[in-house]
Amino acid sequence: MSCGTAPHSFSKTMNQLDSQYDVIVIGAGPAGTTAAALIAEYGHKTLILDRSPFPRFHVGESLIPETYWSLERLGLIEQLKQSAFPKKYSVQFVTEMGKESRPFYFDEYKAHESSQTWQVWRDDFDQMMLDNAVRQGATARTDAQVLDVNFDADVATDIKVRLGEGDSKTDQTIDCRVVVDATGQSAFLASRLGLKSTDPHLKKGTVWSYFENAHRDPDPRDEGATIILQTEGKQSWFWYIPLPGNVTSIGCTGDMNYMFQAGESAEQIFDRELSRCPGMIRRLEGATRCRDYFTTKDFSYRSSKAAGNGWVLIGDAFGFIDPVYSTGVFLALKSGEFAADAIHEAFETSDFSEGVLGSWQDKYVHGIDLFKKLVYAFYTPGFSFGSFLKEHPQYRSNLVDLLIGDVFKLNVGDIFTAMQDVLPME
Ligand SMILES: Cc1cc2nc3c(=O)[nH]c(=O)nc-3n(C[C@H](O)[C@H](O)[C@H](O)COP(=O)(O)OP(=O)(O)OC[C@H]3O[C@@H](n4cnc5c(N)ncnc54)[C@H](O)[C@@H]3O)c2cc1C
Repeated sequence: MSCGTAPHSFSKTMNQLDSQYDVIVIGAGPAGTTAAALIAEYGHKTLILDRSPFPRFHVGESLIPETYWSLERLGLIEQLKQSAFPKKYSVQFVTEMGKESRPFYFDEYKAHESSQTWQVWRDDFDQMMLDNAVRQGATARTDAQVLDVNFDADVATDIKVRLGEGDSKTDQTIDCRVVVDATGQSAFLASRLGLKSTDPHLKKGTVWSYFENAHRDPDPRDEGATIILQTEGKQSWFWYIPLPGNVTSIGCTGDMNYMFQAGESAEQIFDRELSRCPGMIRRLEGATRCRDYFTTKDFSYRSSKAAGNGWVLIGDAFGFIDPVYSTGVFLALKSGEFAADAIHEAFETSDFSEGVLGSWQDKYVHGIDLFKKLVYAFYTPGFSFGSFLKEHPQYRSNLVDLLIGDVFKLNVGDIFTAMQDVLPME
């Protein structure tokens, strides 16, 4: 069962590898490819390795507006404008009672072209990002499973990688000055070094699939919107993300133990929650599922630090917070950028210590914490942004800043002073 993207040719990058690089990036998702492109652009000898043949399937299709600035720096805006990816102008929330709120149109708050973003097939988007890293001078291999990162005392010095497929696999050790871990939810180094902790307030699970001919809003300004729909009793919520080819990504997230009950298949879980969400039932009338169901759980976590001597963690390899506000790709791009600049600084000063490589961590964590508070608010029983804004209308633009991803702006977190009493303690 498949739908959406055209069948891809199997594109494996098969460059011969040297025994030494300035920087090795493990993982060719949005974080790794951003870092690799920028580090190579700075002129450092860069290798990017992925264990999956590209293009490869990945969840996470909805971008938020502030990804624009990283994509612009990477030189990819024109390519996105020419693409078939649906244009996203807003996000809309539907309450558990089925009340459809007025969409938050991003350009009502920021009159700039960055206020329109895209809904992307990640196979194609990530391939575009990888091609760009190679264009900037990075060497890439997408048949490369990294088995180990080796240390001399606490300094990362080299990696061990298994290259190739089937019977023709070979192992190679490659030296470098900096290892960038961009391995996504595998969080290779954070797991290896015992740095990772899951978020006790966000023990969630998700079931999702892809549907052809789900209802689309006929208005060009609304047809590409992300819609977030609560189910009755707010036990779970659905995402609705329109993709090219009249395919829609639809997923449901709720407490892990509630979602995954003994003996239920992914389809049964999806159908159980669908029956409690009239707004989604209406949108799926006449639609046909065109891929299998996927599941994932306990995906919100963070590493206690973003860098050490000779190594850096970016994107999901550093941390991930709940999919509700579609912040994952934005954070992957942003941390890839921050890390690339810090790594360049390390080469300029010949100082590859934790202090230099992780110089961006505090600013980044401050931004992530704002998203996290917004997620906590979403899941707080009895809390609703609609009622909150009726009581505190002065925070509406603050809220939109957060929804578009403008988390590094001064004072954007002021909204949380008015929410202090309802949010869980850290
Ligand atoms: C249910 C769900 C829904 C989501 N929806 C959205 C959304 O709508 N919008 C959004 O922005 N984000 C969303 N996200 C988050 C988004 O998917 C991630 O934040 C994003 O993909 C992170 O990018 P990354 O580059 O850090 O990691 P990834 O994109 O996961 O890339 C990591 C890469 O590392 C490779 N790798 C792993 N281990 C090794 C190894 N040992 N050797 C070599 N290669 C390795 C993998 O093959 C992979 O290609 C969602 C997440 C979940 C769980």
